[in-house]
Amino acid sequence: MKKKVFLILILLLLALGYHLVQNYDNPGRTIDLVSKAEAASGKAEGNEPFEWSPTKPYPVRDVYYPGTEELMPDEMRVIACGTGMPQPRLKQAAACFLVELGNGEKFIFDMGEGSIERIMALGIPLDQLNKVFLGHLHLDHAGDFPAFYFTGPVNNRLTPLRVWGPSGVKPEWGTRTWARKMKEMWAWEAASRGSAVDARGLELEVNEFDWTAVNKVIYDENDVVVRTIPAIHADQSVSFILEWNGLKFAFSSDTLPSKWWRDHTKGVDLSIHECFIPPELMMERYGFELSEAIFVGTQGHTSAQAFGKIMSLTQPRQAVCYHFQNDFDTVLAVENAIRETYDGPLDLATDFMVWNITKDKIKTRMAVPNEESFPAPIQRKKIPPDTLATYTWTDLSFSGVEPESAAVTNKLIEKLNKKYNQDIKPGVTGLPFAK
Ligand SMILES: [Zn+2]
Ligand SMILES: [Zn+2]
Repeated sequence: MKKKVFLILILLLLALGYHLVQNYDNPGRTIDLVSKAEAASGKAEGNEPFEWSPTKPYPVRDVYYPGTEELMPDEMRVIACGTGMPQPRLKQAAACFLVELGNGEKFIFDMGEGSIERIMALGIPLDQLNKVFLGHLHLDHAGDFPAFYFTGPVNNRLTPLRVWGPSGVKPEWGTRTWARKMKEMWAWEAASRGSAVDARGLELEVNEFDWTAVNKVIYDENDVVVRTIPAIHADQSVSFILEWNGLKFAFSSDTLPSKWWRDHTKGVDLSIHECFIPPELMMERYGFELSEAIFVGTQGHTSAQAFGKIMSLTQPRQAVCYHFQNDFDTVLAVENAIRETYDGPLDLATDFMVWNITKDKIKTRMAVPNEESFPAPIQRKKIPPDTLATYTWTDLSFSGVEPESAAVTNKLIEKLNKKYNQDIKPGVTGLPFAK
């Protein structure tokens, strides 16, 4: 008799196990296997059977096509535009995350090398991307900022660009000096554009704040608050916490797990923190000595085990690790190391990973970006370029114009003028130039 009860119990447990496996749904993932199964069978429980329309869009969206989904008023969307390392690689740009809010506001956190092309591939009008927060001024977190700033005016950004960044241990290392010197370094770029584009996009608003401040508000507009905490990364580095509509997003930039992160990111909705590949892998792939691997992978940056620990201590709704080469032959080692110290919801970020966050649910998907993007449509009326910024080319440039090619160009302009009923004069090829 006892044996029978035992057998029945075993069978019940097996059935329960089977049920769990069938309905397993990673709490952080969007994929709802139950509704997928319903979809496959053409039936939804308690409803009439239905068929997929042969002409309407397929309603289960496991991927994100940028520009095709409305953001709900209470929803936050975060897109990874760079998750990699300082060494440029095709698959992963360096650090960059875009946060979009249901109130229409958009924020960029860090802008490492390669990230600008990811941002452009999303097809978002650049006028809407006018706020950039830099956690520190390493190349892999700020390297594409000059490109973003200077290509804005020729890519339909007609608004000033606003940047927030930390003060320096020495004033000349801070964001204000960095931005001023950047403009100086690219003085000719600005001069050669100034006479050709609406100059509003060339305005830069620099907001430098104290890097040592703890949980200090550095942005408070339109119900969005951004706070800063110090990061442990060669000084003058910070992490950010954005709060809106009861949702919190935390971004580490580069840091060792800190007590400030522990104390101020508890229970945040999306917690994006750096994490490196294991030191053994660094020795293998970089040719590092053990001492170098330990220094870079555990002292300058967060080891996977330490990442797991800080996530265990803070218990975010969704943990995200980034800043490592996320490949088929590295990801398992990273995940296993994290799982030594953390068993909560986890995403191992790669470029174009997308999170949709509401109070009820966090969906993780991959975006399918447009590799052949053009600048998004213009958002406001252009004003004519600043004529004061015009400078006349030297005689050398004019004297070098090749006459027969110039004649062909002039003919093209004549044709275009006729087609569009205008009378635009060629500026260079129409001038008398030396033969
Ligand atoms: Zn760094
Ligand atoms: Zn970094």
